[in-house]
Amino acid sequence: MFHERRINIKTPAEIKIMREAGRINATVLAKVKELLQPGVTTADLNAAAEEVLKSYGCVSPFKGYGHPPFPSSITVSINDEMVHGIPNLKRKLKDGDVVSIDCGTVYQGYVADSAFSAGVGQVSQEAQTLLEVTEAALHAGIAQMRKSRRTGDISAAIQKYVESHGLHVTREYTGHGVGKDMHEGPQVPNYGAAGTGLPLKPGMTIALEPMVLVGTYETRVLPDKWTVVSADGSLTAHFEHTVAVTEGEPQILTVL
Ligand code: MG
Ligand code: MG
Repeated sequence: MFHERRINIKTPAEIKIMREAGRINATVLAKVKELLQPGVTTADLNAAAEEVLKSYGCVSPFKGYGHPPFPSSITVSINDEMVHGIPNLKRKLKDGDVVSIDCGTVYQGYVADSAFSAGVGQVSQEAQTLLEVTEAALHAGIAQMRKSRRTGDISAAIQKYVESHGLHVTREYTGHGVGKDMHEGPQVPNYGAAGTGLPLKPGMTIALEPMVLVGTYETRVLPDKWTVVSADGSLTAHFEHTVAVTEGEPQILTVL
């Protein structure tokens, strides 16, 4: 079903570099979060992110990625836009919006990948619940990132948590290994069965990223060939961390 990419086990020295990449990425996201208010354009958010990246001598792996090449360093996805929204000078944030920001950082040849969603001003109760459930689902997945567990344990934990709140997980977009490449193996879907999939090993670094929808799990891609929206126009949210499997506790790399 999914094209399986190579899994690269990282040495402690490589994980140390990825931790630095993750710290820088978290700094970028913190800056963007500060700016979330009505009237700010999505292009303004991208410009602020690029300024922080530049101050560290880093770039985002998003820029120029794919076909057509993604034009920006972050993705900004609003309300029914789930992921891959393209920053735009004309698109202004409004009170009550749910905004999802995804950013990657390349530092010394290694990638960190992380995303968050947040409300602009005052959001609805539905939006608030969506945000809380999606972030908690990410942490439910991270808790499974232990030696001897399997990728399906992560998938099942995310799906179970989200569906127990009456919400839906995407079927087409998945978490993924990350390292020198933004997308490595293993692929980690946001749904699945516990006890299935690949065994986790220390040195695996995986970007887990639950994408959650209020109405149904169906999505479609807009004519810009990037922006993924919920098929029914319902609200969506997205949280992501790059996490290392260790001999013990999972290590979240994309924090300050
Ligand atoms: Mg991402
Ligand atoms: Mg990712």
